[in-house]
Amino acid sequence: MTRRTFQGSFTQQEPIPEDAIEAANAVLRSGRLHRYNLADDEPGETAMLEQEFARWQGSSYCLATASGGQAMQIALRAAGTGAGDRVLTNAFTLAPVPGAIAAVGATPFLVEIDENLCLDLKDLERAARDSGAGTLLVSHMRGHLCDMERLMAIAADHGICVIEDCAHTMGASWNGTRSGSFGLAGCFSTQTYKHMNSGEGGLLTSNDPDFMARATILSGSYMLHDRHGAGPDQSHFQLPRYHMPNMSARMDALRAAILRPQLKRLDNNIARWNARYEAVASHLAERPALALPHRPPAEAFVGSSIQFRWPGCGDENCRALLAACGARGVELKWFGGTEPTGFTSSHHSWRYVEEQALPCSDAIMAELFDMRLPLTFSVEDCHLIATIITDCAKELSA
Ligand SMILES: *Cc1c(COP(=O)(O)O)cnc(C)c1O
Repeated sequence: MTRRTFQGSFTQQEPIPEDAIEAANAVLRSGRLHRYNLADDEPGETAMLEQEFARWQGSSYCLATASGGQAMQIALRAAGTGAGDRVLTNAFTLAPVPGAIAAVGATPFLVEIDENLCLDLKDLERAARDSGAGTLLVSHMRGHLCDMERLMAIAADHGICVIEDCAHTMGASWNGTRSGSFGLAGCFSTQTYKHMNSGEGGLLTSNDPDFMARATILSGSYMLHDRHGAGPDQSHFQLPRYHMPNMSARMDALRAAILRPQLKRLDNNIARWNARYEAVASHLAERPALALPHRPPAEAFVGSSIQFRWPGCGDENCRALLAACGARGVELKWFGGTEPTGFTSSHHSWRYVEEQALPCSDAIMAELFDMRLPLTFSVEDCHLIATIITDCAKELSA
């Protein structure tokens, strides 16, 4: 058997499309990079992006922000969450999520995840009862959507406001409803590794006009909220404009100019990601030792990354699999390491959060692997990558 090695880079995204580069150049030539620096009658790139994204998402309003983390932070604050409050969130997510909660002076109250990497809804009921939290920041981590109808019913029963972290689910839906459209607000990221790439950036969507007015002023709109493309009627700003502090988290025209042409390609890119996901998943599914998260028919996902578990394999085998795949050019992430390297998704390394016992999440993460699927990989590449993973797992279990 020939031992082929994969040569591609797991962190290399596609280039920014030429029309986006042209649009960026036009902004640069104009000198008007600030979103509110507009010529007569010019709507501005940021306002147009807000309009187009709101239409695509199917939400009444959209606010562009400096990052996904800022979108979450502003959403929490605009929802009335603040110092001393507890906020429910997933035990397994990325550091900007507990970070956004900490930034408003609140405390994350972590909820267990299940084997499909979704919020464990039984544990959510317990946490909703025990925590006294008024807000749930649900993170659709790695693109997995839980039963959103049940989640919303549990939240309603406990009077909990839901905000969705859609950093990995831009374009995903549950029973035909887009992620981000279930709760009060959806928070999206346009950071380089997400579904659209402006380096840094975020988008906040909602159907609630008063919430959106507060969020707009928080984002740093000065008194220029009439220059927004997908904002609520001016009457909603009457009160909040005296009460909301300016957090300076605007998106500039340059990033918006880069994003608008990418939004036009997003649906097509989702299909391309899913073809890559299917290629890898089909091989992994053939190895009974490896467990893929179940993806229910109600879930339309975006396969920009793939996760799998190796149940009962033990730490030593996990490390050996990482090393063996790495030696053949396949960069896996493992969530069982004790020290944060490169990223932090382990609640044990969030020492600003009150320590909580989360045995189920810990057990799942101890045998959980993750791999990015950038669009610079061909479907053929994905077949090779998956073959390398299954070969290595087979050799290690022999
Ligand atoms: C990337 C990411 C975010 C937002 O990140 P920013 O870098 O602030 O845009 C939020 N949640 C998750 C799970 C993420 O991976």
